[in-house]
Amino acid sequence: MPELPEVETIVNDLRPQLVGRRFESLQLTRDPAIRARLVRYPSADKFIRRLRGRTITSVLRRGKYIVMPLDPADGAEKLRANGDVTTTDQRVIVHLGMTGHLRVWEPEEAPVKHTHFRALLDSGLELRYDDPRQFGRLVVGSMDELIAARAFPARLGPEPIHGDLTEAEFERLIRARRRPVKSALLDQSFLAGVGNIYADEACFRAGIRPSRWTHRLTVRERRSLYEAIQHVLENSIAARGSSIINYVDGFGLPGGNQEKLLVYGRSGEPCLRCGTPLQGTRLAGRGTVYCRKCQR
Ligand SMILES: [Zn+2]
Repeated sequence: MPELPEVETIVNDLRPQLVGRRFESLQLTRDPAIRARLVRYPSADKFIRRLRGRTITSVLRRGKYIVMPLDPADGAEKLRANGDVTTTDQRVIVHLGMTGHLRVWEPEEAPVKHTHFRALLDSGLELRYDDPRQFGRLVVGSMDELIAARAFPARLGPEPIHGDLTEAEFERLIRARRRPVKSALLDQSFLAGVGNIYADEACFRAGIRPSRWTHRLTVRERRSLYEAIQHVLENSIAARGSSIINYVDGFGLPGGNQEKLLVYGRSGEPCLRCGTPLQGTRLAGRGTVYCRKCQR
């Protein structure tokens, strides 16, 4: 599943291709079940209507979400005429789920299998979304509207990188609740964007077992974890993300960070630091890998 570094890479790749571009014509898959699953809010038809003629003003990342605010200047009147009253603060939000891809294509290129959404831009290029497993989501609306419709989380934790999270804030958050470290790291209302890959990698780097309780961590361990989280995320962004299932960047190329993972997906293989076979277990409902010797 794409996590923070993968989504950050895609967003950076898409930004120059999308900012200032207007949606000309849009097309969603005809399959009603896929339409309903993919477009979480509003309806599939309203989704198309709200995007048509609107301009993308920026391409941002929030946690694992791709966020594209739309120009309020055009389209607002048309929306009211359609009886779909909206505020001007509209944004398209995409969650790639497990296997989603959002990419810009030449219109002549044949759509790949499982392409569910296509939008012709005024640049003459097409923005397309494909997703074999269909866990991804597309929504459009104001933040208030999306949160009220449960199409976007009401509580999303701080961004762990780019200096947005201070050590004092991390300290406060991790001490606020008693639970295993792994559960905390996976909780998007604790930190936004960390998933299974980087939770395991951060715990290894910090020398902390994922099953340790947050309130039992020492001051030094909390600091190590704080630094490890940023390190694993920033290093993965530098390597353009980890391609585990089918992740590719905004240009369709795999990332390079999967080669650099120290524990994730390596259960039973020797620890790269001490040689002990890595331990695989389940924690917080997810496969978890750690080193019994290096992590305490
Ligand atoms: Zn080890």
